[in-house]
Amino acid sequence: MKTSHAIRQALALLLVTAAALTQAQAQALSADEQQLVAHVRRHTPDALRLLERSVLINSGTLNPAGVREVGALFGAEFEALGFKTRWVDMPADMKRAGHLVAERVGEHGQRVLLIGHLDTVFEKDSTVPPWQSDGSKVRGQGVSDMKGGDVIVLLALRALNDIGALQGRTVRAVFTGDEERVGSPAEVARAALVAAARQSDVALAFEGAAQDEQGQPTGTVGRRASGSWHLQVTARTGHSAGVFGRDGFGALYEAARILNAFQEQLREPELTFNAATIVGGTSAAWDDGQSQGTAFGKSNVIPRDAIVRGDLRYLTAEQGARARERMQAIVEQSLPGTRARISFHESYPPMAPTPGNMRLLARYSQASDDAGLGTVAAFPPGQRGAGDVQFVAPFVDSLDGLGAGGGGAHTPDEYLDIASIQRSAIRAALLIYRLTR
Ligand SMILES: [Zn+2]
Repeated sequence: MKTSHAIRQALALLLVTAAALTQAQAQALSADEQQLVAHVRRHTPDALRLLERSVLINSGTLNPAGVREVGALFGAEFEALGFKTRWVDMPADMKRAGHLVAERVGEHGQRVLLIGHLDTVFEKDSTVPPWQSDGSKVRGQGVSDMKGGDVIVLLALRALNDIGALQGRTVRAVFTGDEERVGSPAEVARAALVAAARQSDVALAFEGAAQDEQGQPTGTVGRRASGSWHLQVTARTGHSAGVFGRDGFGALYEAARILNAFQEQLREPELTFNAATIVGGTSAAWDDGQSQGTAFGKSNVIPRDAIVRGDLRYLTAEQGARARERMQAIVEQSLPGTRARISFHESYPPMAPTPGNMRLLARYSQASDDAGLGTVAAFPPGQRGAGDVQFVAPFVDSLDGLGAGGGGAHTPDEYLDIASIQRSAIRAALLIYRLTR
C-alpha cells in the first residue's frame, strides 16, 4: 500500500515537472520561434530524402562533374527559398569543380555566413556503397561529412523562409567543392569563401557535430592550424675517419641534432610538430609531388645532404609564430662543417578559440536549451582536424560542428544518426533567427 502510494506521488510529481518544462520551453521560445521548430519537425522527412538524392551522386573531390551536379541539386533548393545562386569556377589547371554561392541581402540584423561542402573523400572508384539506411542510421559516402550538414542548412533556412523571417536579412551560403583536398594555390581556391566572410558578421559551419566524453553535444570554437616544414641540411663531406674533426659532423648528425632539439625544447599544449620523412647521404633528393625521396651514400663517407619533412599544428597565430621562431633558432646553431635551412608553409590558418567564438557558442547553447535540446559545450580545439571555417575565422566570429551527428568520417564505416538532422536544424534555425533580428 505504502509503496504504491509513493509511486503515485512520484508519478504525479513527474507529470507536474514535465508540464512545467513544456511551459518553460514555450516561454523560452517566442511565437515565431515555436513556429520555426514546428516547421523543421514537419519537413525533416524531406531533408532526409534530399540527403539520399545528394549522396547517390558521387562527388569525390576529383570528380568535378559529380561535385557540380550536387551543387546544382542544392542550388535549386536555395533558389526556391529566395536566394540568388551562382557557381564559382576554378581555373582549369587546378582540377577542381568550383563552389556554390547563395545569397539573400537585406538591411537588418547580423550578416550570417553558412559554410558547407559538396565534395567527399570517396572518389568514383570507391567500393563504399553510397547509401544504406536501417531507419535510425544511414551509412555511406559523405553522409555526415558533410552532405548531412548541407541538408541541415537547407532545412533550417526553409523553416526561416516559410515564416517570413528571412525578409530583409543578409544570409550567405558557400558550399565549397574541394574541402577534402583544397585546390592549389589555396588563396585562389578560397577567394570566394573569404570574400563572403568579409561581407559577414558571423560564420556558422556545418561539419559533423561531435559529442564530448560525457556524451554532451558540442560546438567547435577552435581548430588548429596545419602547415608543413622542410629542413635542408648541407655539410662538408670527406673520409669517415675524419668525422667530428677537420671534416665536421656531416649532414645526418646535424639533422638528428635539430630534430632532437625540437622535441626537447618546443613541446607545449596544443602544439605538435611531426617529423615525417628523412632522406640523407652523400646525395639525397625529395619529390614533393610523389611524396617520395631517394638517397645515395657509403658508410665510409661523411654525408653531404639531409632532407627532412614534417608538419606543424598550432591553435593561435602567436603560438605558430613563436614555434617557427624557436625552430629557426635551433636550426641556426649548426654543428661544425654543416649548414641548415628551414622553410614553412601554412595550409590552414588557425581558428583560435576567441571570446567572440565563445559568445557565439553561448548563443547556440542558449537556443538549444530553450528548445529543450540541452546545453552545448565547447569541443576541445586540439582534437579536431582542419576545416574550411579556418579560412574565415581570421575575419569573423565563427562556430563549427553544427552539422549532423555521426562518425567514421573518411572511412568505409562513415554513418549519420538520422535523429540528429532535426535536432541540429532546430538549433541552427533558432540561432540564425536570433542573430538576424
Ligand atoms: Zn568535411
